Amino acid sequence: PKTAIIIGAGIAGLASAIRLIKKGYYVTVFESNSYPGGKLHSKTVDGYRFDLGPSLFTMPWLVTELFELHSKKPEDYFQYSRKETICNYFWEDGTRFQASADSDTFAIQGAEVFSESSENIKKYLVNNKKKYEHTSSIFLEKSLHKSSTYFSKKTLKALLRIGGMGIYKSLDTENKSYFKNPKLIQLFNRYATYNGSSPFKTPGIMSMIPHLEMDLGTYFPKGGMHSITKSIYKLAKDIGVQFHFNRQVDEIIVENNIAKGIRCNGEALKADIVVSNMDVYPTYKKLLTQQKQPKRVLQQERSSSALIFYWGINKEFPELDLHNILFSANYKKEFQKLFDEKTLHDDPTVYINITSKENTQDAPKDSENWFVMINAPGNYGQDWPELIKKARTTIVEKINRVFKTDVESYITTEFILDPVGIETSTSSHRGALYGAASNSKFAAFLRHPNFSTKIENLFFCGGSVHPGGGIPLCLFSAKILIDVIPND
Ligand code: FAD
Repeated sequence: PKTAIIIGAGIAGLASAIRLIKKGYYVTVFESNSYPGGKLHSKTVDGYRFDLGPSLFTMPWLVTELFELHSKKPEDYFQYSRKETICNYFWEDGTRFQASADSDTFAIQGAEVFSESSENIKKYLVNNKKKYEHTSSIFLEKSLHKSSTYFSKKTLKALLRIGGMGIYKSLDTENKSYFKNPKLIQLFNRYATYNGSSPFKTPGIMSMIPHLEMDLGTYFPKGGMHSITKSIYKLAKDIGVQFHFNRQVDEIIVENNIAKGIRCNGEALKADIVVSNMDVYPTYKKLLTQQKQPKRVLQQERSSSALIFYWGINKEFPELDLHNILFSANYKKEFQKLFDEKTLHDDPTVYINITSKENTQDAPKDSENWFVMINAPGNYGQDWPELIKKARTTIVEKINRVFKTDVESYITTEFILDPVGIETSTSSHRGALYGAASNSKFAAFLRHPNFSTKIENLFFCGGSVHPGGGIPLCLFSAKILIDVIPND
């Protein structure tokens, strides 16, 4: 059979390996870490299990179809359940909102809490759904870099419709055209962070993101987010993918503009195709140093990063659920700090994820495993120890004010992940969570294609290339990859 080498065992690398086996390739994966999953990994300390990266799971069928592709029963590998509450929202003036996954309930309860009309909220949600349905087939499911994509009627229709979908205004302006209540606007603005962007810059078309959660649903994988990695890694091994861990690839070997294989620990290894699941920036800067660099693609603004405190808490907080948000009083300032000043805001929005609410084994009895995250700028060499020290104090004080508690006294275990840590453990340029930011209406078209236009037999998958970051989009990138690899 033909041979494929994949650089990186992130979620997209794993999914690509599984799909390439189906296409008849003999697949070998080289991973610099000692484990698969990249950002989708976990750690257990003092009886507390923490998912280190992603916490929100949408579009689970993109995972289960990998098992079906190889005629396996998904439930033998991977199980999950749908959440009825999307998120609990808290503001410092005492306003609280439990966002229901049922859009009618959301509209009725939202109308009450935010003094808006429920019809208006419904209208907004219906329009979001339309935006998603009219554009997902082109922006998420196909290569934007093959002329064949533009020949279909559906694509042309979608492109014609885009103008009316709010691409010429920001998400904030779009949301303000529907609502007056600043808190409801803030709630819907938050969805810009799902691809690491600013709601004051990302285009209004991004209001399709809430549709993913509200109509398509949010889910919790049995055993936590890490079971996504574990289950598809197991499938990959079961169907014959070869893995080499602790093996950092140093070069993609290119001869006469054709990728011929890789160099790893001084050894040259040949393959018919090479797929990079490594962030596209270091792929060019470290593995393709002799090749022409796609400057415009590599110069794109990066998405935000994160600062996360993993806390073992020896108390239970019944007012909290799996996903919880404590909003900043000044959201605009928060994003100015992140993207313009590349620093942390002194009143950041705090996200608390607690998987022990769903999976009681994730924490000791009467305790909870808190993943406390704030958005952070990318790593530009800031004084992180100083920023982290300040942020910790601010976060503790905010939690204390909102829940009238003394959270510090319940923290029994602690470790921290910052943008530098994310960059070091996954090679993500500047520690970006989602590759390039979507702070411009052209972002979708500026992402690197899933193939090289200059080097034959070189392909790309993962959060830094088309269609973008986040688990579902990474899984889409693996599907598109298969479409762009010629059938001989
Ligand atoms: P990565 O996970 O980036 O993995 C790349 C792999 O390549 C790594 O294992 C790395 O070691 C390996 N590698 C790199 N260079 C080499 C080399 N030279 N040789 C060999 N191996 C190499 N997404 C969501 O959907 N929901 C969320 O709630 C969410 N929250 C997030 C929170 C955090 C804190 C983070 C960090 C990310 C979050 N994301 C979320 C984003 C999501 O994790 C990523 O988009 C996705 O996991 C990226 O997968 P990937 O396949 O691109 O590869």
